[in-house]
Amino acid sequence: MRAFYHPDQAVHSPQQFMRYGKFVPIKDSPVRTERLLGALARHGITPELPAEHGTAPALTVHTAAYVRFLETAWENWAKLPDHGPEVWPQYFPYWSGRVEETARPDCPATGFIGQVGWYLGDLSVPMGPDSWRSILRSSETAVTAADAILAGDRSAYALCRPSGHHARADRGTGFCYLNNSAIAAQRLRSRFKKVAIIDVDIHHGDGTQQIFYTRPDVLTISIHGDPIDFVPFYTGFANETGYGEGEGCNLNLPLAAGAGGAEMNAALDKAIAAVRAFGADALVVALGFDAHRDDPIGIFKLDAKDFGSVGSKMQSPDLPTLVVQEGGYGIDAIQDCLDSFLTGFSKT
Ligand SMILES: [Zn+2]
Repeated sequence: MRAFYHPDQAVHSPQQFMRYGKFVPIKDSPVRTERLLGALARHGITPELPAEHGTAPALTVHTAAYVRFLETAWENWAKLPDHGPEVWPQYFPYWSGRVEETARPDCPATGFIGQVGWYLGDLSVPMGPDSWRSILRSSETAVTAADAILAGDRSAYALCRPSGHHARADRGTGFCYLNNSAIAAQRLRSRFKKVAIIDVDIHHGDGTQQIFYTRPDVLTISIHGDPIDFVPFYTGFANETGYGEGEGCNLNLPLAAGAGGAEMNAALDKAIAAVRAFGADALVVALGFDAHRDDPIGIFKLDAKDFGSVGSKMQSPDLPTLVVQEGGYGIDAIQDCLDSFLTGFSKT
């Protein structure tokens, strides 16, 4: 299987995020990619550099105003007097929380501070001077891997960092800025009529859900910790099934805290049955490893070997499959998780 990664994805080095009322070191450290590259090496896979695509692919699922904001955020931040080391929001606009809203209007404020609050939705998406470079490269990695599938490869792996699945059409949250999985799925639509996304990151793929929520051509499925008491809290419930033409094209499979491999496997069986019923022509796997028992912000109890089973099951729909890296913050666990996933994925 070909894999894609650009070293520029490691230059985004956020310093802190807010947890339980304290600023703590951010979990999305660049060392994550080193561990994931180590797992690829175990399988004899040398990642290829992604092609440069610029922002055009991102603009197929994100609003122009939001992408422009990200692109110029540091430049504008640096003009502020006595500014801190990273772009941080200090105001949070009201949002109705209606799941059928696929985007809001552009930010009504032209002032930069107002825009930071509008476009960066929580306290875990700081942006430093090099962040945009990593964000753009991460999206290009997903796009280039999608292009490999479009050119006939049966599978491809995009080692994306920063992750993407919390990024909505017009807002970044949860360590995510551009939605790599959604951008890739949209890219695949140029050849494949129906694309399914299965997201196994422990956090609900709220951005991905929102982007495709009213569409009948992309099935979004997420297996995650029950948002009743877990990030991202406000969406990810089982009764969110799509809206309008997209009704029936979103499947949320929340699991209770403490879920392990057996629960994940049972949920995956439901997910794959849904992919078959939908008649998908291609599959995107949004692959997080934060369901591992040692993850510092997770609530599940999967072992590394359980991701072998995830990999194996992802082959069962027998579709062209693009694997996009999402979260996973147990630094000493994620290499084994990816190793195990690749073993399971290549066995069947
Ligand atoms: Zn996650």
